[in-house]
Amino acid sequence: MQHTRLRFPPSPTGYLHIGGARTALYNWLFVKKTGGRLVLRIEDTDADRSTEESISGIIEGLEWLGIDWDEGPYFQSDFSADHRRAAEKLLQEGKAYHCFCTREELEQKREAALAAKQNVGYDGTCRELGEAQVEAKLQAGTPAVIRFKVPERQGKIGYDDKVLGRIESSYNEIDDFVIVRSNGSPLYLLCNVVDDIRDRISHVVRGQDHMTNTMKQLLLYEALEAPVPVFAHMPLTLDTKKAKISKRSHGEIVAVEFYRDHGFLPWAFNNFLVLLGWSPGDDREIFSKEELIEAFSLDRINKSASIFNYRKGDPKFFTDPKAIAINEHYLRTMAVEELAPLVKEVLIDDGLWHNDYDTGLRQWFFDTIDLIRSRFHVLTDFASMGRAYFSDEFEIEEKPLNKNLLKHPGLKQWLPELADDYERLSDFSVEETERLARACAERVGVKPGVVINGMRTVVTGQLAGPSMFDVLVTIGQQNVVTRLRKTPQLFP
Ligand code: GLU
Repeated sequence: MQHTRLRFPPSPTGYLHIGGARTALYNWLFVKKTGGRLVLRIEDTDADRSTEESISGIIEGLEWLGIDWDEGPYFQSDFSADHRRAAEKLLQEGKAYHCFCTREELEQKREAALAAKQNVGYDGTCRELGEAQVEAKLQAGTPAVIRFKVPERQGKIGYDDKVLGRIESSYNEIDDFVIVRSNGSPLYLLCNVVDDIRDRISHVVRGQDHMTNTMKQLLLYEALEAPVPVFAHMPLTLDTKKAKISKRSHGEIVAVEFYRDHGFLPWAFNNFLVLLGWSPGDDREIFSKEELIEAFSLDRINKSASIFNYRKGDPKFFTDPKAIAINEHYLRTMAVEELAPLVKEVLIDDGLWHNDYDTGLRQWFFDTIDLIRSRFHVLTDFASMGRAYFSDEFEIEEKPLNKNLLKHPGLKQWLPELADDYERLSDFSVEETERLARACAERVGVKPGVVINGMRTVVTGQLAGPSMFDVLVTIGQQNVVTRLRKTPQLFP
């Protein structure tokens, strides 16, 4: 059996966005599932719009996602000789022809056809030019494009789309399309096919926005006498108002790098992406890498558009809630050993990392991650909401400050007294710290919650968190004592 060969061929004209990443992921999953190979091809023939920055952004995005490729990156611009040779061959074999119609002529014909409610496609004027006529015009330097000569056939051309089923079109619906511009540069339609033939691509998995190209490309495969790959066209990704997602209307929220920079876990993000347009046929939503490779198939890709459920303006849930929910699931349940290196990177970025966390405090570091993650959404929460566990310098959030501290002026005195009790403890344990906190509340005549919430505010700066006495033990006797003693400074 021949191995499957797939490709991810981004045009480097912007960052890697959600749609592109999903395309890459589906190709990658199918390759892994079938033991095939993935080719990364940068389609950079549009020199005006391609940028180095975009190329490195796309590559970094794929690397972050863990989508690896087996060949490439190839650059389409390195193969322009192949593209020109193919156009030449089509000309020589009479499968393409020079067209000298000017833009103005074409525009006039188009308008006339529109007015007469006729087909607006190219009318074939230059199709019948004799060889001598063509030669003379070329000699005279008349600008010419090269058009593909769509065979004059009755009936339909079509293919069996792995997602959409049989797709057909009548030959007479396809007009002679341009394959080389008048400046000699071949069009994407042609380059893409020539490259797929050279790269021996067996399956083309791409967005439905390319379907208009597919019929023309089928004709090119036939004319170039190459086997046609299997096509699978994936649904578009739209926003909740059914508009196509794009940087212009949605901003950075649709860029993969946004998720990397906002503390998403790469695999969790892949898990979110795969569900944007594919389902396993049952109600599973969480998949390990191995499970997903096993479950994935092209024929379970959805036919209709998928919705990126993005709500503007909500700072905590700044993206599709499902992306957050899946991220939380992994963040809160994955093996701490696997999570720890990712937390380390975040702490390093924020200047919160201590080398002890890799040596003497390694177990403490693991236990702390495990304790505090239960309310976290993204990795960066370790450095923000979790900052007090790794540094003495942290902010006290306004809400707990007002609600749990300033509202009870007695705490100004009670918490430093409790600090003295804590300092004297020889066993700074969950049980002992709790006993003394409750005794303190009783002594001063308030509910234990007043002391505990006040303490949480002063020790962590947060409104809520894990069990307070676990928190105290984790932060450690000396730090707790010091922080509690600073309580009066927080009062005006
Ligand atoms: N370069 C094209 C794009 O980025 C890829 C088209 C294809 O997959 O055939 O949309």
